Amino acid sequence: MRKCLLQNQNKLFDQISSFASLYIPVETTGGNASFKKYEQGMVMSDVLKTDRSPKDLFFPQTENLMEFKTSGKNIEVIDNRKESEDFVVFGVRGCDVKSFEVLDRVFLVEPVDTYYATRREHGIIVSMACGRPAETCFCQTFGIDASAPEGDIVCYKTEDALYLDAKTEKGKNLLSKLADVTEESDGKEALKQKEQIKTVLAKLPLANLKADSFGKDKTKEFFDAPEWQILSKSCLGCGTCTFVCPTCQCYDIKDFKTKDGVQRFRCWDSCMYSEFTKMSAGQPRLTQLERFRQRFMHKLVYYPTNNDGLFSCVGCGRCISKCPISMNIVKVMKALGGIDNE
Ligand code: SF4
Ligand code: SF4
Repeated sequence: MRKCLLQNQNKLFDQISSFASLYIPVETTGGNASFKKYEQGMVMSDVLKTDRSPKDLFFPQTENLMEFKTSGKNIEVIDNRKESEDFVVFGVRGCDVKSFEVLDRVFLVEPVDTYYATRREHGIIVSMACGRPAETCFCQTFGIDASAPEGDIVCYKTEDALYLDAKTEKGKNLLSKLADVTEESDGKEALKQKEQIKTVLAKLPLANLKADSFGKDKTKEFFDAPEWQILSKSCLGCGTCTFVCPTCQCYDIKDFKTKDGVQRFRCWDSCMYSEFTKMSAGQPRLTQLERFRQRFMHKLVYYPTNNDGLFSCVGCGRCISKCPISMNIVKVMKALGGIDNE
């Protein structure tokens, strides 16, 4: 394990950004934070959860996929992708690291999404153990350990230092380039923090929330449940829950005509929207109840059915704090699964 004194944190960031683009969580307004490209002197935020997850760096909200230029009967296809250089995302929480496994199972299976694949290939993830997990966190429900997140390098931040533990070849390679700004450590302080985090995790209000009632092959059990009626009643269909969610992966592709051709964009979409997957034959889900049900059934039943039992919720709690009517996946789980959280 390597140690970097906090007084040298910016030297560490300067060093990384000298050979790769670096993204760190930076405070924005009202105590919020988001991942931003590092510039000299920037301060890494200690905020537990960025408003938007680091998913954006691998699967951007809006992306110009390609252009078509026409000249007479000729069409030129222009590939706009630029992500061929390594980049480092520093400070990714355990739940958000896990979200990449969910996204990988969508974008890296045949036919592979080469835009996403290129970014995954070049992206190096430095995760951050959660010193102070929030009351809205329930990553434990899905088997995620916030005290020992996955990632290429796992980082523990104490009062005076960062402790960096490389877990993959990519991580080892990155750490080997940071020898000047780090020193060898026995990792005892990191271990101490790990134990402290475990104690906090056990006391969280959602610590005992279980997902056992859901999962593979439960479609029949939940599809026609009467609870959907009341749960979906106040949903505004605003899509906020899908846009802040690290595992949501729906998108739409739109072509825009230019003076001499066409620009093709990919933009995030939301199953909560009334026009989602609308076809010439019409809209497949006519009511908000059907759309609401789709989102939660996908997280808790359809996705695990198609992916060896893996849920497509990582318990980050963003939908708990951001939904304007305070509806969220925990309420759905409690109502449908008959879960008593005591
Ligand atoms: S559940 Fe909440 S955040 Fe999601 S679409 Fe409905 S109102 Fe918006
Ligand atoms: S459904 Fe909610 S808690 Fe689960 S991963 Fe998405 S935003 Fe986070």
